[in-house]
Amino acid sequence: MSGAGRQADWETVIGVEVHAQLRTATKMFCGCEAAYGPPPNTRVCPVCLGLPGALPVPNREAVRLAVRAALALGCRVFDPSQFVRKNYFYPDLPKGYQITQYEHPLARDGHVTIRVDGRPRDIRVRRLHLEEDAGKSLHDRFADSTAVDLNRAGVPLVEIVTEPDLRSPAEARAYLSRLKQLLEHFAAVSDCNMEEGSLRVDANLSVRRPGSEVLNTKTEVKNLNSFSNVEKALFFERDRQVALREAGEEVKHETRTFEAATGRTHGMRGKEEAFDYRYFPEPDLPLLVLEDGLVETVREELPELPQVSEERLREAWGLSLYDAELLAAYPRRLAYFEAVVADADAEFAKQAANLIMGPLAEALNQRERGGTEDDLLAPRALRRVVALRLDGTLSSNSADTLLSLLLERGGDPDELVQEHGLAQVRDASRLADWVEEALAAHPEEAERFLSGEEKLLGFFMGAVMRRAGGAADPGQTRELLRERLGGG
Ligand SMILES: [Zn+2]
Repeated sequence: MSGAGRQADWETVIGVEVHAQLRTATKMFCGCEAAYGPPPNTRVCPVCLGLPGALPVPNREAVRLAVRAALALGCRVFDPSQFVRKNYFYPDLPKGYQITQYEHPLARDGHVTIRVDGRPRDIRVRRLHLEEDAGKSLHDRFADSTAVDLNRAGVPLVEIVTEPDLRSPAEARAYLSRLKQLLEHFAAVSDCNMEEGSLRVDANLSVRRPGSEVLNTKTEVKNLNSFSNVEKALFFERDRQVALREAGEEVKHETRTFEAATGRTHGMRGKEEAFDYRYFPEPDLPLLVLEDGLVETVREELPELPQVSEERLREAWGLSLYDAELLAAYPRRLAYFEAVVADADAEFAKQAANLIMGPLAEALNQRERGGTEDDLLAPRALRRVVALRLDGTLSSNSADTLLSLLLERGGDPDELVQEHGLAQVRDASRLADWVEEALAAHPEEAERFLSGEEKLLGFFMGAVMRRAGGAADPGQTRELLRERLGGG
């Protein structure tokens, strides 16, 4: 398609729509189990099948989780909001309509802060609303037929729609990563498992000349099942639209699918106009009125948001943006870090950060059942390891050894240092003895060294360390050897 030079003549305009399944035990309007995976059509009832006479009742927990999501995205929450019917025909929608929210959604006007080249930028969230999911068509169960599984019909979702504020496929990906982090770990409202369909992404894109405020015809790519596919699909769409416009052709308003194998998008069908759905207020449900005090309670319960923690870490401890982002990635990791560093200084914090994001993170990844940093090692023990390293008791190698011992079998850091002889030896007479022994053991090299051959310093450092079992203080040892260099 078009080359890189031409891309600079165009600005990309992207908006993203995400559906996230809320972490509830039961469905949005009935008591059916909402779990992923049971045999097809075993979690259904008259309500989620839309049988005549069945009445929906909103799931209180789903409403609470949706309010949490809304506040984590900085939205204004509306009380009341309104459920409506969105009418359309599809085999996996036996009711012939979906209950959703339209003109009066639960929340509006939020934002998600992403970083573009290290700089924070707010992506506006236009709206967040509650709705129920449809069923699922299965095309691989029976030859020449499509099967329908209605276990998913009626499962609670939030739909989160951005303004067209994203300017590149990479920004779209950064937005999605941040959104997932907020929903999964901070608001903790969804497991955001893309493989199981609990997070689904549609993205729309148009191109225009830089400086223009016009929103040109956009295309929408549906049901992208990974963030890297979102990025690839958007790159493809951008190039395709730029090529069309440069050839003087029209971009057709349509929905497209992405084919991962080829990295291309294909037109599906003309985009339905909004009036095709014939939205009208859901006659079986009153306005959605929130429980007294719900918004305030949820606001108090929410943890500090990652962009706030990151700034705090950078200011309080002088950590790099990279370190701050990793430490603030999960609320539990941040709490652990803060318990370890307490009122220590920047050098201490940097050492602690390295150990938490290095050996501890690795040990956590290797555990089959997951867990937290606290399960691995008490903050007090890690604090002691860092202190022993910083006061010179431990070399960087022996600090690693001590940490492995603590992670493997636990115990008291100071006792382990004693038991395994991990402390660096700084006793001058012991160090001098080792130096003498090393020289005596290698008479030829010793003669050359004593007559000034400096490059043998490393050789004797090694020889001393072997005698000391690695515990000799390297600075002092080097000094002692230097004194002997050239016949001292
Ligand atoms: Zn049901």
